[in-house]
Amino acid sequence: MPARIPPELTGRLAGIPGLLCRPGEPLSRFSTLKIGGPAELLVEVASERALARLVREAAAAGLALHIAGLGSNVLYPDEGLCGVVARLSGGFRRVRIRGQRLSAGAAAVLGQVARRAARAGLAGLEALSGFPSTVGGAVFMNAGSYGTEMRDVVRSVRLVERDGRRRRVTMAELAPAYRRTALADSGAIVTRALFELAPGDPATLSARIEELNARRWAALPSGQPNVGSIFKNPPGDHAGRLIEACGLKGAAHGAAQISAKHANVIVNRGGARAADVLALMRRAHDEVAARFGVRLEPEVLLLGGLGALWRQGPDAGSAG
Ligand SMILES: Cc1cc2nc3c(=O)[nH]c(=O)nc-3n(C[C@H](O)[C@H](O)[C@H](O)COP(=O)(O)OP(=O)(O)OC[C@H]3O[C@@H](n4cnc5c(N)ncnc54)[C@H](O)[C@@H]3O)c2cc1C
Repeated sequence: MPARIPPELTGRLAGIPGLLCRPGEPLSRFSTLKIGGPAELLVEVASERALARLVREAAAAGLALHIAGLGSNVLYPDEGLCGVVARLSGGFRRVRIRGQRLSAGAAAVLGQVARRAARAGLAGLEALSGFPSTVGGAVFMNAGSYGTEMRDVVRSVRLVERDGRRRRVTMAELAPAYRRTALADSGAIVTRALFELAPGDPATLSARIEELNARRWAALPSGQPNVGSIFKNPPGDHAGRLIEACGLKGAAHGAAQISAKHANVIVNRGGARAADVLALMRRAHDEVAARFGVRLEPEVLLLGGLGALWRQGPDAGSAG
C-alpha cells in the first residue's frame, strides 16, 4: 500500500482537539466479516467541529476519506485502504428523547437506540433493531428489515459536507431507495439523525423486538463472521433462493464459504481474505446469470480496488 499521507499532516491532525490518530490500524477489527488490511491512517473523531476540520484537511491534501461504521456492510481490501478512515465516537454516540422525537448521533448503535425507544414507549424502530449497525451507516444504506426502512422513521439528518460545511437535510432530500441514498454520490457525512416515532406500550414494543430478533437469528448463521446479505434481492425474487437453486450452499473458496444456512450470506471460517469472498461472489453471480438470466447486484460495498475488480469481470474474483 503506497504511503500518501505526509507525516506533517498526521502531526497536524493529531494536534486537533477531538481527533485521535492511529496509523496502520487493521481494518479487520472494524469489519463484521473480520477481513481487511491496514488503514493508512485511522482517526477517531469525537465532535462535529473536529470532523469538519478533518474533512477540510483531507480535502486540501487530496486524500480519500472513508467513514467506518460497524463494518457490517463493507468488504475491505486485503491490502488495506489508502488515505484516512474516520470512526465517529464520543458525542456522536449520544441519544436524546423529546416527546415523540428521538435524536441519535451517527455512532449510536441502532439496536440499542431501538431498545431505548421501546423502553420510553416510542414505536417504529422495532424492525430495525436486529442487525449490527450504527445510525450513520443505516442512514447511508437506507437499511431496512421486516417492512420498515430508515426512510420511514427518519425525519431529518445532520451532515458535514465534503467541504466541511454543516447542514441539516430531510431524509427525503437524500433520495432514499432500496439500500441506497444520495450520500453514496455526495460523500457527505451523517453526524446525527432525528427520528419521528409513535406512542406505544413499552412491554409490547420490547416483546416485539425479541420476537423479530429470534426470527432473524433462526434464519442466519450465528457465531460466524459475515455481512448479512451479499447481494440485493432482484425485483420479485430472492438472491438466496436463486443461489441455493444453483446448488451453491456450502460452496467454499479458501476460508470463505456460502453459508449452509442462508445462501445469500458468505461466512468467514477463519482467515478468509477479501479475494476469497470476491471469488465466491463471482461464482454465485455467474451461475445465477447462466441458469436464470438474472444479474445479481452486490449489496455489500466493495471498497478500495475491490469495486473495480468486481466490474472487470470473471477473472477478477481469483485475483489477489
Ligand atoms: C448479520 C447481519 C444482518 C444484516 N441484516 C440486515 C438487514 O436486515 N437489513 C439491512 O438493511 N442490512 C442488514 N445488514 C447489513 C448492515 O448491517 C447494514 O447495511 C448497516 O446499516 C451498515 O451499518 P454500519 O454502521 O455497519 O456501516 P458500515 O458497514 O461500516 O458502512 C456502510 C456504508 O455506510 C457509510 N457510513 C457509515 N457511517 C456513516 C456516516 N456517519 N456518514 C456517512 N456515511 C457513513 C460507510 O462509509 C459505508 O459506505 C446485516 C448485516 C449483518 C452482519
